[in-house]
Amino acid sequence: MKVYNTLTRKKEEFIPLVPGEVKMYVCGPTVYNFFHIGNGRTFVVFDTIRRYLEYRGYTVKFVQNFTDIDDKMIKKANAEGTTVKELGDRYIAEYYKDADGLNIERATVNPRATEYINKIIDFVSALIEKGYAYEIDGDVYFSTKKFKEYGKLSGQNLEDLQAGVRINIDERKKDPMDFAIWKSAKPEEPSWDCPWGKGRPGWHIECSCMAKDILGDTIDIHAGGSDLAFPHHENEIAQSEALTGKPFANYWLHSAFVNVNNQKMSKSLNNFFTAREILEKYDADVIRFLLLSGHYRVQLNFSEELLESAKASMERLYNGVSNLENLINEVDKKEITESEKEYINGLSKYRERFIEKMDDDFNTADAISVLFDLIKDINTNITINSSKEVAEKALELVRELGYPLGILQKSTKGTLEEEIEKLIEDRQKARKDRDWALADKIRDDLKARGIVLEDTPQGVRWKKAD
Ligand code: AMP
Ligand code: ZN
Repeated sequence: MKVYNTLTRKKEEFIPLVPGEVKMYVCGPTVYNFFHIGNGRTFVVFDTIRRYLEYRGYTVKFVQNFTDIDDKMIKKANAEGTTVKELGDRYIAEYYKDADGLNIERATVNPRATEYINKIIDFVSALIEKGYAYEIDGDVYFSTKKFKEYGKLSGQNLEDLQAGVRINIDERKKDPMDFAIWKSAKPEEPSWDCPWGKGRPGWHIECSCMAKDILGDTIDIHAGGSDLAFPHHENEIAQSEALTGKPFANYWLHSAFVNVNNQKMSKSLNNFFTAREILEKYDADVIRFLLLSGHYRVQLNFSEELLESAKASMERLYNGVSNLENLINEVDKKEITESEKEYINGLSKYRERFIEKMDDDFNTADAISVLFDLIKDINTNITINSSKEVAEKALELVRELGYPLGILQKSTKGTLEEEIEKLIEDRQKARKDRDWALADKIRDDLKARGIVLEDTPQGVRWKKAD
């Protein structure tokens, strides 16, 4: 399996530290609002990568944090007259609603930054002791000059980076590129006791600390949206590697933005659509299809038309599922034939092609076209004359390949009971309308499926034929 590693700017063979196991950390949301479909892309992409790794037999320890203390949280809590803690609790609950709605699998662990304050303080203290960080009036800064490899992720050297920074004379830090890992408390802000008075952690240190604590000094995959590569991930590397002297993450994966009219979708530009509002109108399958229909490293221009076309595409795929489900529901006594067995074996070529595409840096766009080819093949070759077993086996394969993408897992039918109740209702209506032909047809179709209707004084009852 090959993955594109931002650190080396190359596609590399994926080799986890421990064979068969993957330690994966994804930077999660700041929980002060509903997440938008741009954030949603990042969550869906890395959920898909996690699902695919599991599909390929890896056990994945998947960690995605909640940033529940920062300037935006404090501002919003003040504006609403609530506490940062209450705001975090509320939007974490809302996050789960939307993430579940998008078929995002629950992480192995979802740590909250505020649960790690003591460990973060230990991390900061250790960096000061090692000479990588310094304290000024309760603020602690990381000294970028001390970390010789600073800039390796973004491919910039410190001099170039410095040249691009406007020197702010009010800053107390020694060097313009130094960044805060601990911030002294301002009045009215949540703060914690620490060796430097009272304060709160900087954003970058939270991820370094939580990743190390839950997954260990070196992890396999660290991921996030492409805006996080610099400075967030660059700073995480500096802090973590300065502390442990070991590589922090072997593979760095970044997903590209969702844009609106070629501008990044963001809360600050106010050009966003929340996942929630889109989920009200479109199914999770449709939204995931849209987000996965392009490669994850290519920007996606979001529009209503794209959603509509994703909806039409999903309908085509689900029509295939529906045909198979209809065949499976027929009461059919036919045995699977030799040529049908051969046909099913032959379908494994789609599995091979799907894996080949996904093994190539998770090329979901091409993997989806393999799914279309598979459905087309099935639609042409499995017909009313086929056996139930061949339809079942084909449907299993469709669902198997849909699983890593988080689509095609639903049934197009309700339960058998719901379906029959609905048909009985249709028949009653037909009788009321004196459409005897339709009423008889419904009764006969059900009979052909082994369902017998009985008209009783209490209404219509049904039972399975003996
Ligand atoms: P935030 O809540 O802003 O910290 O963002 C949570 C995650 O969503 C991060 O990994 C961001 O990189 C990612 N993200 C934010 N905006 C977008 C966007 N327009 N498109 C794709 N990912 C985004
Ligand atoms: Zn992070």
